[in-house]
Amino acid sequence: MSAAFDEKVHSTLADANLQLAIYRATGRLIDHRKNAVAAAALPDYQELRTAANALKRHTIDHLDHYLEQFEANVAAHGGKVVFCQDATEVADFVLGLAKERGAQLIVKSKSMTTEEIDLNERLEHHKLESVETDLGEYILQLAHQRPYHIVAPALHLTRYDVGDLFARTLGVANETAPEKQTLIARAVLRQKFLAADIGISGANFLVADSGAVLIVENEGNARLTTSAPKIHIAVAGIEKLIPRAQDLAVFLKLLGRSATGQALTVYTSFLSGPRRAGEIDGPEEFYVVLLDNGRTRLLADREKRESLYCIRCGACLNHCPVYRKIGGHSFPWVYSGPIGAIITPQFLGIEHEPSLPFASSLCGACAEVCPVKIDIPKVLLDLRAEVKQNEEHKGVNRLERLAFRIWAWVMCHPRIYEMAAMVAAGVAPAGNGKWLRSAPALMNLPPVRAWLSQRDLPPAPARSFRELWRKR
Ligand code: SF4
Repeated sequence: MSAAFDEKVHSTLADANLQLAIYRATGRLIDHRKNAVAAAALPDYQELRTAANALKRHTIDHLDHYLEQFEANVAAHGGKVVFCQDATEVADFVLGLAKERGAQLIVKSKSMTTEEIDLNERLEHHKLESVETDLGEYILQLAHQRPYHIVAPALHLTRYDVGDLFARTLGVANETAPEKQTLIARAVLRQKFLAADIGISGANFLVADSGAVLIVENEGNARLTTSAPKIHIAVAGIEKLIPRAQDLAVFLKLLGRSATGQALTVYTSFLSGPRRAGEIDGPEEFYVVLLDNGRTRLLADREKRESLYCIRCGACLNHCPVYRKIGGHSFPWVYSGPIGAIITPQFLGIEHEPSLPFASSLCGACAEVCPVKIDIPKVLLDLRAEVKQNEEHKGVNRLERLAFRIWAWVMCHPRIYEMAAMVAAGVAPAGNGKWLRSAPALMNLPPVRAWLSQRDLPPAPARSFRELWRKR
């Protein structure tokens, strides 16, 4: 585990208020989802999950075809698709366009893809003002923090934190009522919407057969972002494609329910191309930036490419016992929880934070609630095997590997295993295996100390299972 990861984990665990905030917020989301997908509310929930998995599998297996189809349909409606390899290419495209059009101010709606490439920071570096308009994201922008959760970015902050933050950064009265805080943000953001030259959004789905960008939201800020400024740029990962508009009947039933327990979010916007003649609003220019950033590398891996099925509902985070303890900021990248543990090493490379695939109890709760049935525990195990293989190549953790080899050999030889168990249990005078714990020389060996710093070594029982069985 890297020092930064270790330090974040420990500081989160030691913060009782933060622990309570995470526990309460995720607990609420768990309850809402549970009611929304119960048999009485959604009888065909499991069939929908199976259908969503099949649709995503088909799309990802034929992504080249659907990307071409989407590009052609966006062009047919007067828009333009821009393919970008990485963060630099996206920033260059936006900066180039802003320069050509003389743009100064950008409004943004919530997008994990733009968080992934630090788009705001890159634009601000070139003196472009880029303002987040989702309330949670706006709060985080003022606080200079990254999202804590895929769906609820400011989940870790209390209303008192937000009151302090607004008073400090906006020079307003310290209001602790969420309604008043919302009005403060709204007053600032309305002016930004009216003055903005460019609106940047993400996309929940990209519909190949119609060239539409689909965005779901609850605040209406995405609708303003995509319709008020003269230019709209949607930035999305290439995996957001779905084949047909009718497939949304499956995904929309699952997304809201899995994320927040809503049957449908308050706003569902279909955006296809710039404003047409006779329309009263909408942008004059419409671009869809399709980002790779490690996705095609993952696409080439048949075993693990199911990680690309994710629709970013956040349900796996809420149900993960590890996320609920260590929170979102302990994770080394913008994607946290179980989905972060599998896509971060695959997008950025396994060496980025090799301990990430181990940040899981493998309880399987994530796979059970995932609306597109990604087998996250299996992908985690595959990644763990990769980490171990890399370590073997580099010759690290030799002692640990040797110990496990010996252990495996002992486990394969029942007589020797029995003798070892007898030694562990019987050598101590009290016959309860405490000799191991009371052998200071052994316990103080650096590798043993390091191993035990994060694990328990319970005393061996006085009587083994075999013995009890024989005497039964
Ligand atoms: S992996 Fe599944 S549960 Fe987790 S965010 Fe993605 S779609 Fe939701």
